[in-house]
Amino acid sequence: MTDAMTESTCKAADCDKTVRAKGYCDRHYRSWRKGKMGKPRHPSCNEAGCGKAPLRRGLCADHYAKHYSKAPAADVAPAS
Ligand SMILES: [Zn+2]
Ligand SMILES: [Zn+2]
Repeated sequence: MTDAMTESTCKAADCDKTVRAKGYCDRHYRSWRKGKMGKPRHPSCNEAGCGKAPLRRGLCADHYAKHYSKAPAADVAPAS
């Protein structure tokens, strides 16, 4: 599915480094190898037990709002 020939960025939600393997940069690839990144092809919220798609910083909208409690839990418009 992933085009390995195309240079792209790390699929970790808070990372934009160049991909090394499995869609992750070197650092996140190592984390993934240790089982810290979960399934490579379906990223989900970093909060334990939460399977929602991450919105920002690896967290879903709900957990992002809880952790960074500035924004409401609804849609968070990209600020910049
Ligand atoms: Zn990364
Ligand atoms: Zn969550």
